[in-house]
This record gives sequence, structure tokens and C-alpha cells, in this order.
Amino acid sequence: MAKKGDMLYAWTTDSALAKKAECGGAVTELLKYALESKTVDAVLAVKKGFDLYDAVPTIVTDPKDLDECAGSLHCGTILLSKLVMEYAPKLSGKKIGMVVKGCDMMGLLEMAKRNQVNLDNIVMIGVNCGGSVSPVAARRMIKEKFGVDPDKVTKEEIDKGQFIIEYEGGHKGIKMDDLEDEGYGRRSNCRRCKAKITRQADLACGNWGVIGDKAGKATFVEVCSDKGAKLLDGAVKAKKLTTEPADPKGIEIRAKTENAMLKLGDKWRKRDFEALRSNLWESIAKETARCMKCGACIAHCPVCFTRADKYEQSEPDIMVRAGFIPADPMFHLRRFAHISDSCVNCGQCEENCPCEIPLALFSHAIRTEADKFFEPKLGKSAYTN
Ligand SMILES: Cc1cc2nc3c(=O)[nH]c(=O)nc-3n(C[C@H](O)[C@H](O)[C@H](O)COP(=O)(O)OP(=O)(O)OC[C@H]3O[C@@H](n4cnc5c(N)ncnc54)[C@H](O)[C@@H]3O)c2cc1C
Repeated sequence: MAKKGDMLYAWTTDSALAKKAECGGAVTELLKYALESKTVDAVLAVKKGFDLYDAVPTIVTDPKDLDECAGSLHCGTILLSKLVMEYAPKLSGKKIGMVVKGCDMMGLLEMAKRNQVNLDNIVMIGVNCGGSVSPVAARRMIKEKFGVDPDKVTKEEIDKGQFIIEYEGGHKGIKMDDLEDEGYGRRSNCRRCKAKITRQADLACGNWGVIGDKAGKATFVEVCSDKGAKLLDGAVKAKKLTTEPADPKGIEIRAKTENAMLKLGDKWRKRDFEALRSNLWESIAKETARCMKCGACIAHCPVCFTRADKYEQSEPDIMVRAGFIPADPMFHLRRFAHISDSCVNCGQCEENCPCEIPLALFSHAIRTEADKFFEPKLGKSAYTN
């Protein structure tokens, strides 16, 4: 019987799925089993749309349809946490299974605190995430740095610190560090992210730490809750999944990789925030002067539930005048204040801003600054000494 804290390799017993899946197909198989066993009524996952730069959220109720979702889309930047609200009225009282990256997971936790979702009704299958690349930026990077037509790319992956593409006629990898030093690579919020392994989900799945003959063929699974252990046991019992204990050397490698990623996150935080140190408010005023008040930053933020229409004429607001473009600086200041202690750095505000305002940079910088107040050392010296 699996239990919280277990670490294992898992792979599907379905050979067709094994070919399509990113690693061992454990994520797809677990979700299929969750539907078949009626652990959940529906699954919210992501599938390839027009091309591999087009990640489309999809709600699945027939387990067979989940095969279509197998595989990782590293240029898929959508956040599933707030999207679940779209389906909430239809799924009221029902249970849902979700694939969550670190940001999806943190978004759901924040939404639960605000009574927007009930975590008892959600099974979270976490996937480790080293970061994603915006579709437009990925196409530009592939054209300019790889010298390849982005439409000819058949597969992309991020492995061993490289961004790798397969295309008609070959494959090529370039070190992510080199790409990022030149302004390409992962989204800036992903570079600063330190939620790489989804331990607050029910299961944390990934490829880090899968070594030996299982490399590329199995999914590394860390059991993070009793709910996750039960689902895993059920899928194994139903002969959907095969598992074996993770290689101790693999566990060590996974921990080292995670640590290296956390250090990299710190490096990017230092670099990004340092640049704001002397001029945060001037930068905010300058950048937000482009705001056309479309409300996309609010609509996609998993911690902000202010209604965008509140800022229209219908409801006069003493702090934010209606009917003015660009938005009053107070519009943004109030939003930053709303989320200052809970921004999860998912990057959706920035990703969806048609005016390309670096909103995630600002709110993450403010959140990180606010967090310092609660760091043990400061807390102690401020109040307990
Ligand atoms: C953007 C991204 C970055 C990742 N980076 C790492 C990493 O650095 N290290 C590591 O160990 N693992 C990483 N992973 C996880 C890894 O790629 C596999 O998803 C994981 O090992 C599970 O493999 P599997 O064969 O069991 O999954 P599959 O059975 O192939 O299932 C994959 C599931 O992921 C979902 N999915 C695909 N793309 C996205 C997306 N963009 N957003 C949300 N859900 C998506 C699909 O809907 C599908 O349900 C990353 C995944 C993603 C999406």
C-alpha cells in the first residue's frame, strides 16, 4: 500500500498511451482511473490545439478522451485554477480531477482560502514544472536562435537544462541559460518561480530522478496525500499502472535538480527585483500608463476576485474614476494591495495583458517584499526579542 512520502517510478500498462505520453503516462492513467472508478466526475486537462504552441483547456468525462491530452506542452501557459470557475456551476457538488503545475496548485490553494473552490472535491495530480515559454516568444526563439521554421517543429521539450526541438529533418538543443541570457527562454515569472515540485497536490509527478533503464519510460511519483495514495493504489490494483520504488540515486538526483532550480529562481529574483529597487513606483506609473482597463489581469488572477465591471460607469467608485483611459494609477495600486500578500507569481496578469505591462514582475516584487516581514529572523527580532 502506498503512503504519504513514498517515491516511486510508475508507468502505464497501455502501450499506445506509453508512446504518446511525456514519460511513463502515469498522469493520464491516474486520471483515467479516477474517472473509471468514479473518484471524480470530470477531469480538467490540457490538449494540443491548432499546433504545439496552442494549449487548450478541456473538460473530459469519458476516460478514453484523456489519451488525447497525454504529453507536455511547454509552450502552454494557461492557468487551470481560475478556469475551473467556468465549469463550477455545471459541476456543482461534483468532483473534479486536475493536472496542476506549481502555479495552478498555489492558485487553487488561494482560491480555497477565499471559499471559491472546495479542495475536498478536487483531486490534484501535480506535475513538476521547470517553467513554460510563451507561445509567441517560443516561435520567435525557434526562428531566430534555432534557425528553424516554428511551423516545422513536431515536438519541443525542456530536458537537462536545454530547450530541445524536433523538426522535419532533425533535432536541436540549446542551453536554457544561454537562451535566457540573451532574452529568450522561459517566461520571466517562471524563471523566478520556486514551486517546482507540487508537494501540496495529492501526487507530484515528473521526470526528474528517473534514471537507468526507466529513464524516459517511467514517471517519478511522490505521494503527497492519503487521497493520492488511494488513487495510486487503485490504479495499480486495476492493473492500469505498474510501479517500483524509485532508485535511491534517482531520488538524490531529483533533490539536487530541485535545489539547483531553487537557486536559479533566487538568482532571477535578485536580478529582476534589484532593477526595481530604486524606482518601483516610477516604473509602475510609467508602465501602467498604457493600461486600457480591459480587466484581463483581474479575470485571470487566481487571487483577485474584484469584478472588472466595477470600474465601469454603472458603479461609481470613490478611488478609481470610471470612464478614464488609461486607468487611474489607483486602479493598479489597489489591485497590487489586494494581492500583495498572496500573489502566486503565476504570470497570468502579464501573459494576458494586451498592453504588455510587466504586471507579474510588480506584484511578485511586492509580494516578496511583504513576505520578508514574516521571515522567522525578522519576526523574532521585531516582536519576540
Ligand atoms: C510546462 C511544463 C514543464 C515541466 N517541467 C518539468 C521539469 O522541469 N521537470 C520535471 O520533472 N517534470 C516537468 N514537467 C512534467 C513532465 O513533463 C510530465 O508532465 C510528467 O513527468 C508526467 O509525465 P506523464 O508521462 O505521466 O504525463 P502524461 O501522461 O503525458 O500526461 C501529461 C498531462 O499534462 C497535462 N499538460 C500538458 N501540458 C500542460 C500544460 N502546459 N499545463 C498544464 N497541464 C499540461 C496534459 O493535460 C496531461 O494530462 C513539466 C510539465 C509541463 C507541462
